[in-house]
Amino acid sequence: MIIDGKQESALLREEIKKEILIIKEKTNKVPGLSVILIGDFAPSQIYVKNKEKNSKEVGIKSEIIRYPKEVTEQEVLEKIKELNNAKHISGILVQLPLPQQIDKEKIINAINPLKDVDGFHPINVGNLASGYKAVVPCTPLGCLLLIKKVEKDLSGKHAVILGRSNLNGKPMAQLLLKENCTVTIVHSKTKNLKEECQKADILVAAVGVANLVKGDWVKKDSIIIDVGINKIDDKIVGDVNFDEVKDKVKAITPVPGGVGPMTIACLLKNTVECFKRLNS
Ligand code: NAP
Repeated sequence: MIIDGKQESALLREEIKKEILIIKEKTNKVPGLSVILIGDFAPSQIYVKNKEKNSKEVGIKSEIIRYPKEVTEQEVLEKIKELNNAKHISGILVQLPLPQQIDKEKIINAINPLKDVDGFHPINVGNLASGYKAVVPCTPLGCLLLIKKVEKDLSGKHAVILGRSNLNGKPMAQLLLKENCTVTIVHSKTKNLKEECQKADILVAAVGVANLVKGDWVKKDSIIIDVGINKIDDKIVGDVNFDEVKDKVKAITPVPGGVGPMTIACLLKNTVECFKRLNS
């Protein structure tokens, strides 16, 4: 089974659109998302444009606040403070990466955790790790939704997460622990990487190394989620060698068209969740 991330994303966005219509009817308000974009890094420009387009399509009121790459940290912090206090804004996102003069940690810590739609604030990270209500980072949330489309009950499954980043690997592990999986996290210092992956009922690859996971790294009937986005010449490929793996496993996400579209849908989902918590 090839997991169709585009289709799942479209279904989720449709649900979100309906939910926003109901919210609007009941409260006469819609969720608001502010995206801060600093500098002219081309991929960030594309991501932010996409986020704005998708937000508008589901009925989220979205704004992009642009700064030149020379902007001071203080100026951005003041804007975040203003957005934290703005009643019409339920989600704040600062597009990464940031220029050198701006401390990423300070910026993330300045966002009201209730408006932290990326789920990067230490309060959300801690809440997720503690099993409390948290805003969950969009990509791992999207991965979990895709896994659950294949298998509803993950209890007792052995999940192996390739990569331990704050963005992907660590929150993915927390989400799968919460689903009662037995979780192994592997990374660049792990010995016997291949043997660890071979044990996985669920394998999530988030390393950023093209085609790292080969056909003989995966177990028969496993679920493979490929988060990686890598460029080989002009082609985008994942961290999993799709052609070698696809016929051996129960389900696999393609790259592109797998996890990517779910990430953006989960940002919209998080924006609505933040709105509901702020207005409850
Ligand atoms: P990251 O911060 O660079 O982390 C990569 C992780 O992989 C690290 O834990 C690193 O180990 C590990 N690693 C690197 N090379 C390895 C190797 N050869 N063997 C085993 N482990 C290795 O990356 P990230 O931000 O999590 O992103 C991972 C990938 O996902 C990238 O391709 C990125 O573009 C993509 N991505 C996709 C989406 C989406 O929506 N589809 C969203 C975000 C990111 P150490 O900790 O030991 O260094």
